[in-house]
Amino acid sequence: MTTPSSAPPERHVPVVVVGAGPAGLALANILRAASVGCVVLEAESREFVERRPRAGFLEEGAVRGLERRGLADRLLERAPTHTEFEFRFAGGRRRVACTALTGRRHFVYPQPLLVTDLVREYADVRSGEIVFGARDVEVHGIDGDAPSVSYTDPATGDPRVVRCGFVAGCDGARGVTRTAMPARHTTTARRDHGIGWLALLAEAPPSSDCVLHGVHSRGYAGHMARSPEITRYYLSCPPGDSPGNWPDERVWSELHTRLDVPGAPPLTEGRLIERRVLDMHNHVTEPMAYGRLYLAGDAAHLVSPIAAKGMNLALHDAFLLADALVAYHAEGDDSGLRGYSAAALRRVWQYQEFSQWLAELLHGPSSGDPWRAGTATARLRRVLDSPTAATAFSELYLGED
Ligand code: FAD
Repeated sequence: MTTPSSAPPERHVPVVVVGAGPAGLALANILRAASVGCVVLEAESREFVERRPRAGFLEEGAVRGLERRGLADRLLERAPTHTEFEFRFAGGRRRVACTALTGRRHFVYPQPLLVTDLVREYADVRSGEIVFGARDVEVHGIDGDAPSVSYTDPATGDPRVVRCGFVAGCDGARGVTRTAMPARHTTTARRDHGIGWLALLAEAPPSSDCVLHGVHSRGYAGHMARSPEITRYYLSCPPGDSPGNWPDERVWSELHTRLDVPGAPPLTEGRLIERRVLDMHNHVTEPMAYGRLYLAGDAAHLVSPIAAKGMNLALHDAFLLADALVAYHAEGDDSGLRGYSAAALRRVWQYQEFSQWLAELLHGPSSGDPWRAGTATARLRRVLDSPTAATAFSELYLGED
């Protein structure tokens, strides 16, 4: 039978993965290793996804999850670990020894390095199929047995259709797969913190061996190592503020005001290579699955970077979904798929609650509301003065296993 010339050519694979971020790439690697056929469709180029700067901290549980699946060799060779973090407030500095309290660590591994490792492993080592630059991706027929994904071929501009058994929507907060879920079957819960963060990357060595959280009446400031040469800084600012309002002198002046304390090494300054404003808002879509479409990572839930949870949640979803898809294809066992959404959402909501709790601790003192300032400061002092409170905090900060 020939394909009519007007119809796009079709093929079939068991799973189409939309999006090559941490969620999609981890999932595709695990499917590939288990011989479950898949194709990854990514809107951007390989160079772009391998360079996009974002997250920098991986929880021990996420690292062990990658390691168990043969995806952490380079990470374990190269990533330094953090065992403490420091609050700077009221002109002083106090450390929380989170590893001593929990036995777990944070691994400092910038997202572009992880994405580069996962692309290399999937495409170059495991010979997995990935289409970079896929345009006009659309998901069809997810409530039937034979869904499909259409896209425009980046090389030829021709329309393509991939028929499949399952679609994994791993296309981030601005992707298209979530919109394929019928509105009457989903709810989306939102939380807007009403603050912005000026996100900065500086060509400057870290000024501390751990994360610094500056809690100041002028606003929050964060210091987070990315590499021996690069540091991420954050400054809270009004939501929707323009990066143009933040020339270099103002950035460094605010960082010094909010983070400098007597006795601490001075902040290292350097050329600012990223400067953008992120509005701190969160959302969760549930359930995370409908018909043959399963969402993972930011496609299903956005958690502001306040507690450094987004990439870790994306990997957790990917592990759950991959294991469920492998069990289905290897043994016909669909229990993992049926339980996927509920299992993923348990951790999603834990981390959303923690992120909200931490957001108030960090921003309450600069809210201008004396009630919020007083209760947020009480919250911070409890973490610093009570070993029980510090342990509970550290368990969530360093993540579940
Ligand atoms: P993404 O990484 O967004 O990947 C989605 C992919 O889908 C992208 O490659 C995108 O190009 C592609 N795509 C989008 N639309 C389409 C389409 N229509 N068709 C095909 N492909 C498409 N998290 C942490 O855990 N720790 C941190 O320290 C941390 N810091 C952060 C700092 C910043 C400044 C930001 C912005 C985020 C931070 N995060 C952090 C969050 C983290 O980066 C995200 O949660 C993570 O990238 C989610 O991974 P993902 O795979 O779900 O989505």
